[in-house]
This record gives sequence, structure tokens and C-alpha cells, in this order.
Amino acid sequence: MSVDERIERAAQILAASRHAVALTGAGHSTPSGIPDFRSPQSGLWEQADPMVVASIYGFRRDPQAFYDWIRPLARLMMEAQPNPGHHALATLEDLGVIRAVITQNIDELHHKAGSRRVLELHGSVRQATCTRCGRQVPSAEMWPAFVASGELPHCATCSGLLKPDVVLFGEMLPTGVLFEAQREADTCDAMVVAGSSLEVYPAAELPERAVRHGAQIILVNYEPTYMDDRAVVVIHDNVAVILPQIAARVQAMKGVA
Ligand SMILES: [Zn+2]
Repeated sequence: MSVDERIERAAQILAASRHAVALTGAGHSTPSGIPDFRSPQSGLWEQADPMVVASIYGFRRDPQAFYDWIRPLARLMMEAQPNPGHHALATLEDLGVIRAVITQNIDELHHKAGSRRVLELHGSVRQATCTRCGRQVPSAEMWPAFVASGELPHCATCSGLLKPDVVLFGEMLPTGVLFEAQREADTCDAMVVAGSSLEVYPAAELPERAVRHGAQIILVNYEPTYMDDRAVVVIHDNVAVILPQIAARVQAMKGVA
């Protein structure tokens, strides 16, 4: 099948589905300029061992090292804009096709693109929690101040250290969000896996659950994944190029101009 034929097939599956969901990973945000920060190739790890600096133990022992590491990433996330792939998923939600976007990303780009139901498995940079009094605060002001000064962000109430609400190595995933994502995987009839190499668990097992319950998998990712054999449509390309074409075809099939 040519790429055009595969795009057409993906659109047919989505247009006919009653309950589709999307699962996105780091590759969904790289066209927006955000590196895959779990990857050794990202350049973010030259000075640091991720299992130490970006772990909850590392954060407790040496928060300055954690914040020094995350500073360039935080700057990129502040400036990043959603790419056409994000907008395509928001369009598919508007069409009533996609019911939820499950994401491994913490960068908020799905929200910025207008997606309404976003299940953030690894948390997000939108909020932070005080490590002393437990108060949860929006981090819209924290990041610009921190990126500018490099000084550790503190709680306005008790001066305790703030920790971003992102899941660090060694931390549990937010249970409620994970259960919701698993329920989506169990009940969907189509799943678009976009920009995830399916190497980080438990997100990686969600397509497997979906297939077990009869869903059809559409996979758009540069690299092959362990699910390639079981997906109905596989396109090894850029999500920012492919997803808008799929969304446009679904729109046409649904008679939306
Ligand atoms: Zn506090």
C-alpha cells in the first residue's frame, strides 16, 4: 500500500469508529522543537545521568541539579507551539471521532491546540506542588521567573521548595489518570498511536490492551515499534505531516467542509 492509500485506510477506520482514542509520545512534540528528553540522543544528558538527576531521589537530594538540568527544557516548553499534528487531533475530537488523547508528554501542547480531554500519564508542567505544605499551585509564573534567574522556585505561602507536577523516574504515575487511560484502551474501537516508540511502560501496553478488546490500531511513528505487526495501518513518517492529511480525509468523509 502506498502512503496515500494508508492515509485513506486510516481515515476510513476513524470515520467508521464509534469511539476512537489517541496515544501520543515524545515524537509528537519533536516537530514543535521539544527534544525527547528521555532519550540519550536529546543532548540533555551530556552532563547528567537521567536516573539520578531526574529521579525523585535525585530531586530530594539535589534539587538545584534537577532544576539546572530542566532549565533548557523548560525554556523550550514555554516557547513551543502545537504543530499540525496536535491541531489534527483536536479537529478529530471536534468531529466527535476521538474521545480522548492519552499522552506521555508533559508540555501541554495538546491543550494549547484545543484538545479538551487529555489524559497526561506523566503529569504536566502546568502545575507544581510545594514539598513542605503540599499546596498545589499553577506554574504559569514559576517557569518564566525560574528560566530567567535559574533560582529555585519557592512556595509563596511557606517558602518550601516547589516541585513540578511531572512524574520523575522512580515516581508512581497518577493512578486515576492511568486507570482512565486503561479504560479508554479497553473500550475504544480504534486507537491512533502517534509519535510513540512504545518503549516506556505502562503507556506502551495500552495499544496491546486495545487490540485484545478488538480495536484497530493506526500507527504513525518514525521508528518501528513492537506493535507494527498488529496494527492495521502503519506509517513511518512525521506526525505533523501525516495526521493533518488523515483528519482532512475524515472531515471530507463526514461531509464537513
Ligand atoms: Zn508551601
